[in-house]
Amino acid sequence: MEKVVSGIRPTGHLHLGNYFGAVANFIKMQDNYNCYFFIADWHSLTTHPKPEDIVKSAHTILAEYLACGIDPAKCTIYIQSDVREVLELYLYLNMNTYLGELERVTTFKEKARKQPDNVNAGLLTYPTLMAADILQHRAVKVPVGKDQEQNMEMARKCARRFNNIYGVEFFPEPQSFHYSASAVKVPGLDGSGKMGKSEGNCIYLYEDAKTITKKVMKAVTDTGPTAPNSEKPEVIQNLFTLLNIVSEEETVKFFEDKWNDCSIRYGDLKKQLAADIVKFTEPIREKIEMYSNDTDLLMRIAKDGAEKAHESAAETLAEVRKIIGFKVY
Ligand code: AMP
Repeated sequence: MEKVVSGIRPTGHLHLGNYFGAVANFIKMQDNYNCYFFIADWHSLTTHPKPEDIVKSAHTILAEYLACGIDPAKCTIYIQSDVREVLELYLYLNMNTYLGELERVTTFKEKARKQPDNVNAGLLTYPTLMAADILQHRAVKVPVGKDQEQNMEMARKCARRFNNIYGVEFFPEPQSFHYSASAVKVPGLDGSGKMGKSEGNCIYLYEDAKTITKKVMKAVTDTGPTAPNSEKPEVIQNLFTLLNIVSEEETVKFFEDKWNDCSIRYGDLKKQLAADIVKFTEPIREKIEMYSNDTDLLMRIAKDGAEKAHESAAETLAEVRKIIGFKVY
């Protein structure tokens, strides 16, 4: 089965946008590919997080992904820092990667601009660590957003260069796997385009019914349609898009009809939307709570995942050492 690798950023909680834009696709992928999902805690060191936050955020993210349906029986989910082979490969790949090409990476330039007092070598070599994350499993597919295309090109370059230098056909060139065609763009509740952490307009999967309902009832609306069958302004379209994502077809149709004949009451629409979001998130929220309260279970899952990932990476690294010319004992 083809190997797929994807890193998961260990920052913050999952919101509806994350779920429908990314996690739902991971859940589908685990049925069709040999998936390796990892929580990228080493990558997060570029911003110097506090020690106590590192484990805490890895556990939070692990609990939330498991609650969404990432199934350790179907895929390998592990914490990056539990599988040290990647660091050895990172070193080898860094030997074949040049300062100029790393400096040209757009995400590096952006980060360097955002944190001018902390332009560290880890930031510069982020693409080679990402390449090592992928190549250690000899993965062929990587589910990433379009913004990662340059990093993916670096990963392919690393694979190609290694193969050329040593005259081997060892690393496959990993391809981006864009699931954006099937991914939904989840809008925010504030009338702005997208639901996102930095926009501060998120509905988080861990939130309870009361919090979610309060947020939805506060959603921005307008004064209502003035003519039958008129086009919806963005703020209203956003509510309908959310309704489309979480509600039954008949519910959407009911409110579409109300919009079209100008009898819509936004209060009713929001109440229904809140109830349907809660209906969707509640089982996930309960599972998040269950996993978060069971550190032993989380540790066991992380340990099993690390063992499986280690097995895959160790096999690759044994070959890599041989190819480079190190003695194999
Ligand atoms: P972030 O939490 O911003 O790091 O996003 C992680 C991933 O979640 C992104 O790469 C997208 O695939 C997905 N995502 C985040 N926000 C949204 C959204 N509002 N609609 C659809 N997908 C999203």
